[in-house]
Amino acid sequence: MTRLIKIEDMNMDSSELDRLLLDPAQVLSANGTVAFPTETVYGLGANALSEEAVFKIYEAKGRPSDNPLIVHISKIAQLNELVLDIKPYALELMSAFWPGPITFVFRKNALVPSKVTGGLDTVAIRMPDHVIALRLIELSGVPVAAPSANLSGKPSPTKAKHVIEDLMGKVDFIIEGPDAQVGLESTVLDVTGDIPVILRPGKITVEMIAGVVGSCLVDPAITEGDVEGLAPRSPGMKYKHYAPEAEVEVVIGEASKIILAFEKAVDSAIEQNDRLGIMGFEEDLLVLEKILQTKYDLKDIKKHVFLCSHGSVKNMEEFARQLFQNLRRCDEAKCGKIIIRGVSEAGIGHAIMNRLKKAASGKVTRI
Ligand code: AMP
Ligand code: MG
Repeated sequence: MTRLIKIEDMNMDSSELDRLLLDPAQVLSANGTVAFPTETVYGLGANALSEEAVFKIYEAKGRPSDNPLIVHISKIAQLNELVLDIKPYALELMSAFWPGPITFVFRKNALVPSKVTGGLDTVAIRMPDHVIALRLIELSGVPVAAPSANLSGKPSPTKAKHVIEDLMGKVDFIIEGPDAQVGLESTVLDVTGDIPVILRPGKITVEMIAGVVGSCLVDPAITEGDVEGLAPRSPGMKYKHYAPEAEVEVVIGEASKIILAFEKAVDSAIEQNDRLGIMGFEEDLLVLEKILQTKYDLKDIKKHVFLCSHGSVKNMEEFARQLFQNLRRCDEAKCGKIIIRGVSEAGIGHAIMNRLKKAASGKVTRI
C-alpha cells in the first residue's frame, strides 16, 4: 500500500515541515521507498547504503539493473562516507552550484553497494535545491539513492500526479509537493579526471562550469550518440528514455517554416483521421490556430489536433519546465504522432535537445 501526503506550502514553519516528514523519513531509514519532489524532477528514494532498499527502486520502476542511481545528500560532510577522493576543482564546483541541479561522479567508496552504481567503480552524487528533499534526507539519517520517480521508459515526472500515475501501489510513500521548477534531470558531471566532463546535459551548462573552473568537456557520446563503438559513459543515456507512446518528430528552423510544417502535419492528420500533438512556442501556436480556423471546422480541429505550448519563445527555462508534462499530455490525448519545435543547442537548449532527440529516437529535421 502506498501512503500519500501533500506538502504544497514551501514556506511553512520548519517544525510543521518536520512533523509532516517524520513518517516518510522513518520509511527511508527502515529501507522502504519514498517518492519526493526536487527542483529537477520527482525522485524515488531509498537508503543508498542498503542493497535491499535499492533493489526496491529497480523493482518499482522496472529499471534495468545496469542503470546506476544518483545518491542524494543534504550536507557536504556526507561525501566522506561515499567517495574516495575529491579534486580541488570539484570542491569549487560544489560550492558554486550546490545545492542545485548538478550531479558529480566520483570514485566510490567500498561502503556504496555496487547495486547503486550499476557495477561501476564510480558513484553519482547530488545535493538537491529543495526544502522538502533536503529536510527529508536529513531526517532519514542516510544518503538517499533516487532516480526519477517514473516507470522506466516514461518521461520523468515533473508533477506529483505523474508519480501517482506511474508508481501508486508500487512504493511505500509519495510526497505530493509542488511542480518541479527546472523540469529536466540534473546535469551529470564526471569529476574523476583532471578536467570535468559532462555526461548528461542539464540546466547547469558547459559554459557555466567552465566559467568557474576554466574548462569543461562534453562526452562525445552525447552529441554523436549514433557513432559506432562510442558507448555513453553515463549508462542511463543509452536507454530509450523520455519516450512517449506516440511517434515523435522534432523540427528546427525559422518560425514561418515551422508553422508551415505544423500546418502540413495537421492536413495529413485530418486526411488520415489521426490525432496529432503539436508542441511549439506560444507565439507559433497563436498563428497556427488562426490559419487552421480559416481552413477547417472547429470540431475537426478539436478532434484531430492537440496543442501544447512550450511557453514564450523568449523563455527557454519555461520550455524545459513544460517539456516532460507536455509529452505525457500528448500520450493522454492519444496522439498517434507528435511534432515538436526544437531549439538551438545553446545554453539550456543543449539539455532540451538531448531529451527531445531521445523522445524522437534521433528523428530531428532541419527545415
Ligand atoms: P535518473 O536519476 O533516472 O535520471 O538516472 C540517473 C542517471 O545518472 C543514470 O541513468 C546515469 O546516466 C547517471 N549516472 C548515475 N551514476 C553514474 C555513474 N556512476 N557514472 C556515470 N553516470 C552515472
Ligand atoms: Mg530517469
